[in-house]
Amino acid sequence: MTDLATLPEWPRNRLVADALRRTLDDLATEKPEKETTTLVMLSGGIDSVAVLANVLAETEHVVHAHHIELSNRENRQKAENDAVADVVEYCWDQYRDFSFSSSKSEFRVSPRGYDLIITMFHAALISIASERNVDYVMTGHFQTRKVRAIYGQQMLDSCFLRESAKPRWVRPLDAMEDSLYLKAHIVRSVPPELVDLSWSCRKPVVEGENFRPCGRCYACRNLEVARNPPIVG
Ligand SMILES: [Zn+2]
Repeated sequence: MTDLATLPEWPRNRLVADALRRTLDDLATEKPEKETTTLVMLSGGIDSVAVLANVLAETEHVVHAHHIELSNRENRQKAENDAVADVVEYCWDQYRDFSFSSSKSEFRVSPRGYDLIITMFHAALISIASERNVDYVMTGHFQTRKVRAIYGQQMLDSCFLRESAKPRWVRPLDAMEDSLYLKAHIVRSVPPELVDLSWSCRKPVVEGENFRPCGRCYACRNLEVARNPPIVG
């Protein structure tokens, strides 16, 4: 059995890259990569950051990244916005060119499935606004339940009249093979400095103009374990 301390580090860790390739191969499209347009929905968390970085590094797709400012959870949106701005700058600098946009959604009530509904609705609007047909909407979801996968695609589809204009919701992280240490592999699929720019904390602590991760919520704890594996021995 693999233990966490022996997982390959970036750039030798290819689990996300291989999952992305497998996902694209399974779609079996005839369209050349250079003519394929991928919209990456970028929350600023490590999962969607890893998808963006790997799509830029591993494919020749025309890439557009989009961030939705979700104001449903107190204090998160400012921290996420700052992270996304830094992530986009870094990726432009270290990977290659892509276009970027953002939008906002503020709800005082958050119905079940809010994040997914809003993500797909905004993804559809970006696709409709785009001059090119968007082929794939990629997100950082993983271990997606089948019913949720269908629901998300349905949300996306409902915004289009023409069948041929409907983008496909693609989740490369769902195709990762090692289920035991998914998060650790995701963290190791991008340079460590890019991990540091991402934002996962659910309950950021305000410090003047800035925010710092709380270190206690499940997202902080997961990330900490993924980054610094416990010493085995
Ligand atoms: Zn936290």
